Amino acid sequence: MVSKKYHITTYGCQMNEHDTERIAGLLEADGLAPVANVADADVIVLNTCCIRENADNKLYAKLGDLKVLKTERPDVQIAVAGCLAQKDRDTIRERAKHVDVVFGTHNVHRAVDLLHEARENGPIVEVLEAAARDDAVAFPSALQARRETDFASWMTIQVGCDNSCAFCIVPAVRGPELSRPFDDLVNDARLLVDAGVSEITLLGQNVNSYGRDLTLAQRREGADVRVRPLFADLLRAVGGVEGLSRLRYTSPHPKDLRPETIVAMAETPAVCEHLHLPVQAGSDATLAAMHRGYTGDRYLERVAAARAAIDDLAVTTDFIVGFPGETETDFEQTLELAAAGEFDAAYMFIYSARPGTEAAERESDFVEHQVAVERYERLRTVIKRSSSMKHEQRVGRIEELLIEGASKSDAARMTGRTRQNKVVHVPKVDGLRPGAFASARIVESKGHYLLGEIIEVLAAPRHKVRIPVVAT
Ligand code: SF4
Repeated sequence: MVSKKYHITTYGCQMNEHDTERIAGLLEADGLAPVANVADADVIVLNTCCIRENADNKLYAKLGDLKVLKTERPDVQIAVAGCLAQKDRDTIRERAKHVDVVFGTHNVHRAVDLLHEARENGPIVEVLEAAARDDAVAFPSALQARRETDFASWMTIQVGCDNSCAFCIVPAVRGPELSRPFDDLVNDARLLVDAGVSEITLLGQNVNSYGRDLTLAQRREGADVRVRPLFADLLRAVGGVEGLSRLRYTSPHPKDLRPETIVAMAETPAVCEHLHLPVQAGSDATLAAMHRGYTGDRYLERVAAARAAIDDLAVTTDFIVGFPGETETDFEQTLELAAAGEFDAAYMFIYSARPGTEAAERESDFVEHQVAVERYERLRTVIKRSSSMKHEQRVGRIEELLIEGASKSDAARMTGRTRQNKVVHVPKVDGLRPGAFASARIVESKGHYLLGEIIEVLAAPRHKVRIPVVAT
C-alpha cells in the first residue's frame, strides 16, 4: 500500500520541537508516513517560531520555494503552524495564497481535521486566542506523539507564561500559564518509562512556577490550600518513577527558583546535576528594564545555593547583549556577573527587536549594532574561559554516558551525554546501541565537547528496537 507522506520543518525552541512530535503523531495516526525530502511530501508543515530574528522573512522565503512545488503538484497541502502563525495569522494567507491551513499554538490537536477540511472546502485559518482548559488538547504530552528518540522524551508540564519580560513575545503567542494536572504527569512518566524511556525532560516556559495556577484554582473552589508552585513535588514524584534514570527540566526562571526545588534536585537521584538558569544580563538597571524580577546579586546567590546543595552541578545560562538602553557600565556589570557565575556554557544573543514586545518600542534606546557585536565578543571571551576550565576539570574522570548514537561529524565515533549535559565523543563500539548507558574515561577537552573512551557498558537500552516506517 502506498501511504501519503508528510514533512515537517521545525523552527525555534524545544516547545516547538515537542509540538512537532505531536503533529507528527497525529499525521501518522491518520496514515501518513514521514519522508526526509520535502519535495516528496504530500503534506508539508512549517512549524514556525517568532522568537528568532527575521523569522517572518525566513518563513516567506521558504513559502516562496514551496509555491513552485505547489504549482507543479497542486494536491500537495501546505500548513503553517506555531508562534508566527499565532501572531500573524491572516497575513500569512494574504502573502502566500498557496498555503492551505494556518493554525496556532492552541489548536495543534486540530492539525489533521483542518487538513481534511481544507481539502474539502478550501484554505482555512484557525487560530484560537487561548488554550482550552482541556488536558487532552492543551498539552503536547497528552496527545499521541512520534518521539524522535525511543530512550528520551520531553514532557510538557505547562504552557504559556505569566511573566512580562520586555523582550519576549511568548506571553502574547502562548497565553497565560496553564499547568497540566500533577497526577496525569506522573502517570505519563510511568507510561513513558514502561515504554523504555530512560530520560525525561520536563518542558515549560517557566517550569518552576508549575502548579501555581492549579493551587489557585483549588482555592477558588473553596479548598483550604496554600497557593504555591508544585514544581519541587513534581521533581520528586516524576524522579521517583521506578526505572527512570535521568530527569531534566527547562527552563526555570531565576526569580522562581525556590529553596525547596534545590533540595528536591539534591535529594532525587534521577534529577541530573545540571541547572540551566537564564540570567540575560548582569546590570540591575538592565534586569529591571527587562522586568526580570531579580538583581544580579540575587541571581548569583541562587546559583551559589544550588552549587552548595548539589554536588558537581553544571550551570548554564542565557545572555542578551545590547538590550535597549544598555550602557557600557551596564555591560561591564554583565561581564562581572559572567565571570563570577563561572558558567559551564552560555547561549548568547545580540538583542534584536521582536515586533509586539515592549522593548521593540524603545527604538531611540537601541544599541548600535557594531557596539553590540563588540560587546558580544567580549562576553564570549569570558564565557569561554570558564567553560574551558570546567571541561578541563573533567579530563581523567570517569563519567556515566547515555549513548545517543553515531557522531554526526565522524563515522568512527559515537556520541553520549553526561548527567551534566556535556557531550562526549567516544570511539565506536560494536553493539553499543543508542539508549545504552556506559562509563567512559574523559581523555581530552575540546572546547564545546569532550573526548572519551568507553570503559564498560553499564546497561543496555530499555526500549525495543523500532522498525522504521519507510514511505514507498
Ligand atoms: S519568563 Fe520571560 S522570557 Fe521566559 S517565556 Fe516568560 S516572558 Fe518570555
